[in-house]
Amino acid sequence: MIISGKELSARMKSDMAAQVAEFPEKYGRVPHLAVVLVGDDPASVSYVTGKAKASEVVGIKNTTIRRPADISEAELLSLIDGLNADEGVDGILVQLPLPKHISEAKVIAAVDKSKDVDGFHPLNVAALWQKQECTEPCTPKGIIRMLKSAGVQISGKRAVVVGRSNIVGLPVAKLLLDENATVTIAHSRTADLPSVTRTADILVVAIGKPRFVTADMISDGAVVIDVGVNRDPETGKLCGDVDFAAAESKASVITPVPGGVGPMTIACLMENTIECFLRKMK
Ligand code: NDP
Repeated sequence: MIISGKELSARMKSDMAAQVAEFPEKYGRVPHLAVVLVGDDPASVSYVTGKAKASEVVGIKNTTIRRPADISEAELLSLIDGLNADEGVDGILVQLPLPKHISEAKVIAAVDKSKDVDGFHPLNVAALWQKQECTEPCTPKGIIRMLKSAGVQISGKRAVVVGRSNIVGLPVAKLLLDENATVTIAHSRTADLPSVTRTADILVVAIGKPRFVTADMISDGAVVIDVGVNRDPETGKLCGDVDFAAAESKASVITPVPGGVGPMTIACLMENTIECFLRKMK
């Protein structure tokens, strides 16, 4: 079974559109997401465009604020302060990565926690790890949604997450743990990685290496979630971290790239924006 993130995210967005259509009458306005884009990195421009398009489908107001790559850290922090103070803004997203002269940690911490639709603010991260109310980061949230939509039982299963980044590996491991999986986190220093990945009932791969996970690293019938977004060095086309063609025959459930985790990340961003809006309104 191939889980189509494209189809699932389209259903989510259509449900959200129906929900948001009632907001002007209930709350006097629709949610407003402010997206800050620094510089013109093509991948970042394409992600920001995708977020604006999804906002339009859902009926969320989207303001994309573009600043040149040479903006100073102080100027960017002051822009964020302004958005924090703006009562009409419900969600703030600063597209990463930022130019080297700007501290991402400072910028992430500068966003008001209640408007942190990415779920990257240290207080949101702490709340996630303490099982308190929080904004869950979009990609991990989307992954759990995909597993549930496919009827995958998570509780009691052995999950292996390859990758330990703050935005994917660590939080998805925590969410899987919250769903009562037994979780192993593997990384670049893991010894004999294939023997670890072969223990997985559910294998989540987020490393950023084209087709790195081969069929021999997957046990028969495993559920494989491919988070990677890479350019295939030979064809130049988008591909994941998993060798899909080879893995498909071994996995019971697998996600494609493109059209898998990526669209779910954006749908969950829309959901997070609505959640931040509703917390404020209620
Ligand atoms: P990072 O570069 O921040 O982290 C990569 C992780 O992979 C690190 O923990 C690293 O280990 C580990 N790793 C690297 N090489 C190996 C290896 N050979 N064996 C085992 N582990 C390895 O990446 P991100 O988490 O930000 O992103 C990962 C991928 O997911 C990228 O392709 C990115 O584009 C994609 N992505 C997709 C999203 C979506 O919506 N579909 C959203 C976010 C990311 P170590 O810690 O030891 O260095």
